[in-house]
Amino acid sequence: MTEKIIQMLRDRGCKITPQRRAIIQVLASFDKFPTAQEILDHIHQKDPDVGLDTVYRNLNLLISMGVINQISVPGKDLKVFELAHDKHHHHLVCLGCGEANCLNYCPIDDSEIQKSAGPGFKIVGHSLEIYGYCPKCRAAAR
Ligand SMILES: [Zn+2]
Ligand SMILES: [Zn+2]
Ligand SMILES: [Zn+2]
Repeated sequence: MTEKIIQMLRDRGCKITPQRRAIIQVLASFDKFPTAQEILDHIHQKDPDVGLDTVYRNLNLLISMGVINQISVPGKDLKVFELAHDKHHHHLVCLGCGEANCLNYCPIDDSEIQKSAGPGFKIVGHSLEIYGYCPKCRAAAR
């Protein structure tokens, strides 16, 4: 899977630096969504010289290349990341614990929104998170 994503980046003319490769490998190894700090901690096991700025810069680039999704966790001022291995989708985010889960569904039709936005603004994509409380947090609140 990592190689598929790296090939995709090459096809789009993106240079594969060791840091970019490392970020993709770390993301592929996680089964939950890591924060930038967690990604950095893993990279540090092999390369202790990489800084958080570098991780953020590369994450942003990989997001703009469409190979990484960013999920915002409200109230916690936190962003978590996943590889965009599946088709376009959204996430359920728990407001209690911040846990995110994939929702393999998209209710948004960009071409419909383009009509409302008017011709001056060209829509190229969107992000959307669904907020709620997970079963664990609901049980804890009872
Ligand atoms: Zn929760
Ligand atoms: Zn997802
Ligand atoms: Zn969507």
